[in-house]
Amino acid sequence: MIPISAVDINEEIEASVLEVLRSGMLAQGPKVAELENLFSEYSGVKHTVAVNNGTTALVLALQAHGLQPGDEVITTPFTFVATLNAILEAGATARFADIGDDFCIDPDAVASLVNENTKAIMPVHLYGLTADMDPLMATAKEHNLQVIEDSAQAHGATYNGQRAGSFGTGCFSLYATKNLAAGEGGLITTNDDELADRMRVLRNQGMRARYQYELAGHNYRMTDVAAAIVLPQLRKIDGLVESRRANAARLTEGLSDLAGITTPSEPAGRESVWHQYTVRVGADAKLGRDQLIEELQGRGVGCGIYYPKAVYDYDCYRGHSGVVFDPCPIAEQVAQEVVSLPVHPLLSSDDVDTVISTMRDLLG
Ligand SMILES: *Cc1c(COP(=O)(O)O)cnc(C)c1O
Repeated sequence: MIPISAVDINEEIEASVLEVLRSGMLAQGPKVAELENLFSEYSGVKHTVAVNNGTTALVLALQAHGLQPGDEVITTPFTFVATLNAILEAGATARFADIGDDFCIDPDAVASLVNENTKAIMPVHLYGLTADMDPLMATAKEHNLQVIEDSAQAHGATYNGQRAGSFGTGCFSLYATKNLAAGEGGLITTNDDELADRMRVLRNQGMRARYQYELAGHNYRMTDVAAAIVLPQLRKIDGLVESRRANAARLTEGLSDLAGITTPSEPAGRESVWHQYTVRVGADAKLGRDQLIEELQGRGVGCGIYYPKAVYDYDCYRGHSGVVFDPCPIAEQVAQEVVSLPVHPLLSSDDVDTVISTMRDLLG
């Protein structure tokens, strides 16, 4: 079976973790600080605040920006559920703007939803491709809105050469299947000194110095073990991204002429880090989307649906006081057409050939 995701747990990572274990100090310490500094440098930001997962990264960013009950956050309906849950956890209200051909939030749809309650925009850089940031930042500036980038899938992605997470406040995940993987972990990036300071205090029980509590806080700290797993990956991230980009290019070359299949593309000025390689299966394809997935899996090609429905389209959110329903027909349609194929750096050249030939056998 060619898996849809895989982590390269090599000797470097083993040595890095062993160093922490042997130090006897497992909680947040020097490895976390090292990770924060290196990620800031990589992302081109002044500060990185490490936390225990990507969801708490989003919650902490929203809270540190002072979101209050009744404040609205405009986000995309085509995302992992954590985006929505973080908004609700922070006590704010979620509204949904439909997506475009890039699978990301449509800036015009965002602009049309802004009202006097809107306090923040939360674009998601889905599958490793940044949202269309220039028009989103222009809308934010015009209406004095915060921008919190859900960058969970987009470590290192660029928009006109600028890294994901450096436009507003960036929230990254280090979950086991993400491009940088610690098992669990999160990183928040910002150029705002005061915001970074507030987030550092809030992640550690609101404590400035021992038993000096300034704010009602949380325990959102990352462990040094988690940081030690990610540091070796971050040191060679350029190579990891290059592999993903090369795999994606070969997939597109091998699949783009298949009837009914739309391969993903990078809009001008945007470089994807290919967290997922996602094609759309249209009505004119030889197999329906769900049948295609069954056949792929039967032939040993791992694949997945990210995501099967618009995120608001579940009973637990219908009638939820924090969820405002605005119809998003494009997201609902796209959710029925997507299938993601393996693109990760551990794929061999033969693996990529197998993914292509299996798709061609089934759909050609
Ligand atoms: C993974 C993910 C998150 C949540 O990150 P966790 O580390 O799993 O909490 C949030 N948003 C998106 C888009 C994600 O893919």
